[in-house]
Amino acid sequence: MSLIVQKYGGTSVGTVDRIQAVAQRVQKTVRDGHSVVVVVSAMGKTTDTLVNLAQAISPNPSRREMDMLLSTGEQVSIALLSMALQELGQAAISLTGAQVGIVTEAEHSRARILEIKPDRLKHHLDEGKVIVVAGFQGISSIDHLEITTLGRGGSDTSAVALAAALKADLCEIYTDVPGILTTDPRLVPEAQLLEEITCDEMLELASLGANVLHPRAVEIARNFGVLLVVRSSWSDAPGTRVVAPPPKPRSLVGLEITKAVDSVEFDPDQAKVALLRIPDRPGIAAKLFGEISHQRVDVDLIIQSIHEGNSNDIAFTVVKKMLTKAESVTEAIAPALREHSSNTQEAEVIVEKRVAKIAIAGAGIIGRPGIAAKMFKTLADAKINIEMISTSEVKVSCLIDEANGDLAIEALCKAFGVNQSPPTNASLFAHLPPVRGVALDLKRAQVGIRHIPDRPGMAAQIFMALADQNISVDMIIQSQRCRIIEDVPRRDIAFTIAENDIHTTRTVLEKLAVKLGLGEVVINEEVAKVSIVGSGMVGHPGVAAKFFNALAKEKINIEMIATSEIKVSCIVSQADAVRALKCIHETFGLAGKEVVNVPA
Ligand code: ADP
Ligand code: ASP
Ligand code: MG
Repeated sequence: MSLIVQKYGGTSVGTVDRIQAVAQRVQKTVRDGHSVVVVVSAMGKTTDTLVNLAQAISPNPSRREMDMLLSTGEQVSIALLSMALQELGQAAISLTGAQVGIVTEAEHSRARILEIKPDRLKHHLDEGKVIVVAGFQGISSIDHLEITTLGRGGSDTSAVALAAALKADLCEIYTDVPGILTTDPRLVPEAQLLEEITCDEMLELASLGANVLHPRAVEIARNFGVLLVVRSSWSDAPGTRVVAPPPKPRSLVGLEITKAVDSVEFDPDQAKVALLRIPDRPGIAAKLFGEISHQRVDVDLIIQSIHEGNSNDIAFTVVKKMLTKAESVTEAIAPALREHSSNTQEAEVIVEKRVAKIAIAGAGIIGRPGIAAKMFKTLADAKINIEMISTSEVKVSCLIDEANGDLAIEALCKAFGVNQSPPTNASLFAHLPPVRGVALDLKRAQVGIRHIPDRPGMAAQIFMALADQNISVDMIIQSQRCRIIEDVPRRDIAFTIAENDIHTTRTVLEKLAVKLGLGEVVINEEVAKVSIVGSGMVGHPGVAAKFFNALAKEKINIEMIATSEIKVSCIVSQADAVRALKCIHETFGLAGKEVVNVPA
């Protein structure tokens, strides 16, 4: 007999009829010979309604009282579903997070799960009961009995954590769409269902606003090898499998607090090309990378930083033996860019052969803002200067002098308590589609800090200060240009933050600017991030060029670019965002004729 954990989201238990339909599906699973643990969310939009009630009383309610309030939503649905099962003659019992023994950190409103005690669950399963567990909630410790919640959308995480703790054979996430789609169907109705997606791809997509699956649920599935499926509670269609390579053995104690970083990756075979002072208008990146992919040169990292005046810098890396070719293509294109530029200064090409890439990788980097800062600090303490930074959801890559390779590996492995792993082997993913999905995050803001003294430790101090306030940043990009101001060489750094964090970010940075002698802090809210994700883009020249070209054709200007091996992200203006998403989705052949039915 196998054990299945099923999770039903808010819409799936939104009405009495829906709860009865869920009860029938659960009963059918039992009749098919399985033991079932069910995790449910609050009915419909209950959680939003509770948030609004709190806001009506206090603009800044205490996080403890918010957890007390929000956890009630799930308690309603577990009782009702349990009753519905009993009405069908199916033995069932509802349990809150505390009753199950879902022990979390004492962090109200964003607690991570430490441990789940399976004894009581096993006892009820042995009695032949279906157990209906309240998702999204836990308890801070068995002694204190403080109710905690896991953060919005956290029921997915409860379900996968239960599946890991009980070593379940399968975890099914039932929701209101047929599974994971190529993009958000509310924005692009032609989005198509994916049969399969890797955990790494899902992690890169999930935190970008593809909120169909809580990123922490994917992290647990990947770490503990939970078989995970996302499917519709309205049909019997198989949905989407979320797959991962076999995990390394891990302890179930400290379940969500396992190491944030899995590995340190070092790649000495990198060379950098930078093109400085190019015009800030649509089509430039498309032209450059179009030409480069024409010459069959595969680019690895690409960054484009904020404009200074009205010009941009683009930098990218290639394998060393391709440097001459990449340089000549870039040199050839530079004069053409200059002609159209209103800038009197000339576009300039800089190449650097003696560089290497060092990266930290791990699903746990998401939502832990201190990790990137710790990497920068570790390199700074070892007196290693960072020439280029490119971050994604699950990876932070830095370009350094290749002579510092061994020193950097040793320092980072020690700091994160992990071993070095070889860089990603492209041939493993050659059979996968270069672009699996496209995501849009409308809730980002762009931050630029001007004139940061160019010496080791500055990035570390800036991002540590933000991490201390729990502010997650991404797309960290350091400008390629260096200017001497008051006898000090200086660079700009740009990155993005969540819109909600603008106020705190400004306060932190303005204080820091005085202390460290930084220049102006510029924050732009009117931006959005559009990204393509696919494991098959590794070793597949031309994917980024196609992305940039599609935006150029739509006359959409790219304000920032950052990449990881399996993702390319661009910052565009908010006004262009949905148009950008649609055209990219279409360009990569992801749109189908069929329109996915999305409940209102
Ligand atoms: P639940 O209440 O079941 O947890 P959510 O609202 O959290 O459901 O997540 C499902 C919703 O996620 C879908 O209704 C859909 O609008 C949205 N969504 C955004 N991006 C995607 C995507 N790439 N694939 C599927 N659904 C997506
Ligand atoms: N009810 C919670 C929320 O709306 C948790 C969840 O649905 O996953 O965020
Ligand atoms: Mg959800």
